[in-house]
Amino acid sequence: QLTGGLEAAWSKLRGVDVLTKENIAEPMRDIRRALLEADVSLPVVRRFVQSVSDQAVGVDLIKGVKPDQQLVKIVHDELVGLMGGDVSDLVFAKTGPTVILLAGLQGVGKTTVCAKLAFYLKKLGKSCMLVAGDVYRPAAIDQLKILGEQVGVPVYAPGSELKPAQIAKQGLEEAKKTMTDVVIVDTAGRLQIDKGMMDELKETKKVLNPTEVLLVVDAMTGQEAAALVTTFNLEIGITGAILTKLDGDSRGGAALSIKEVSGKPIKLVGRGERMEDLEPFYPDRMAGRILGMGDVLTFVEKAQEVMKQEEAEDLQKKIMSAKFDFNDFLKQTRAVAQMGSMSRVIGMIPGMGKVTPSQIREAERNLKEMEVMINAMTPEEREKPELLAESPARRKRVATESGKPEKQVAQLVAQLFQMRVRMKNLMGAMEGGSIPALSN
Ligand code: GDP
Ligand code: MG
Repeated sequence: QLTGGLEAAWSKLRGVDVLTKENIAEPMRDIRRALLEADVSLPVVRRFVQSVSDQAVGVDLIKGVKPDQQLVKIVHDELVGLMGGDVSDLVFAKTGPTVILLAGLQGVGKTTVCAKLAFYLKKLGKSCMLVAGDVYRPAAIDQLKILGEQVGVPVYAPGSELKPAQIAKQGLEEAKKTMTDVVIVDTAGRLQIDKGMMDELKETKKVLNPTEVLLVVDAMTGQEAAALVTTFNLEIGITGAILTKLDGDSRGGAALSIKEVSGKPIKLVGRGERMEDLEPFYPDRMAGRILGMGDVLTFVEKAQEVMKQEEAEDLQKKIMSAKFDFNDFLKQTRAVAQMGSMSRVIGMIPGMGKVTPSQIREAERNLKEMEVMINAMTPEEREKPELLAESPARRKRVATESGKPEKQVAQLVAQLFQMRVRMKNLMGAMEGGSIPALSN
């Protein structure tokens, strides 16, 4: 398990009060080692460690949260992201039966997954049918029949004379006739990836036009799992993976590398041999389990909320008393800029793009210019923008120091007072919100 190695990492930060490149170096080495020992693939570990270090150094510590706790949180969030962020739900066909084709090497748990999945879907109110597409071992057909009976789901098994693609086709027809919601097709695996297996899968996939093609992967294969998913995806095209045998002494590395390396999400995990041992894959629960520090995470999240609330109240007070200054201005504008980067992500979702990339770049450029000018102000000027409104000499100095035209500095000052008014209006406070004319 990863947990032990990570405990060591956190403990090295006890007593420090900021996270710096120097003091996180050793904990980061521990994290790196823990991930490698957990069988996470090296390129993934490298990217992970880099990203966590970048975020940790100079992070604004949340009030009341210790640096080691903050690092736990950063690592946690990065782990969640690595595993795809949210749960990837199974997709169901809009019309006709949903077809799930299972693929994978021999012995990984495909046949078991067929029955587990049917058991799982039955609980969701779906009717299911299993199709025995592994014609190479007579035992495989019997095994599926027995498991099907166990979970109370019909098994379509015309025997081993037909080719898998034919069986699949007939099975699908049968499911349509019987108005079955979900057809789950078992296939034959091999010990290694080989052309015969891939060709057979391609052919079966062609006749089925499946809603989901799920690659069943044994968690014990460790970092090899990621390469396996990538290969199957390139060869036959898959929609996701099912990670089995997570109850064994697998070190969890497969769960961490699959999405990052192959681009395909883990949709379900198997945690035992019983029919009920199949569940959706929750990246945040998995990350929590890896870190074994659920309470720290909740604590940091609570502290974050409190801080946001305190900041908001603080800001509100300032606005009400017309004290909104350049420091707040900067904070506000930065928050907006952050939302800008978020909208870039949103912009990637088809049909949701509202903000164009050039608009975002423009906003970011504006923010940079404002920051340069605000940095050229004295602390006093930042807190009392009136000083700048009243004194052309001060504006000139800011212009010279920031290398911006005086006119732009004057615009920035005017903008702040406009914001004061707008915010005051927003808050319903009507007094004292006039925009002072800048004296020349
Ligand atoms: P297939 O060759 O891919 O069809 O694999 P099987 O479904 O026949 O499973 C191979 C073996 O792995 C069987 O003994 C299963 O009971 C076992 N197995 C499958 N899934 C799990 C799991 O999640 N945990 C454990 N411990 N064993 C499993
Ligand atoms: Mg099998």
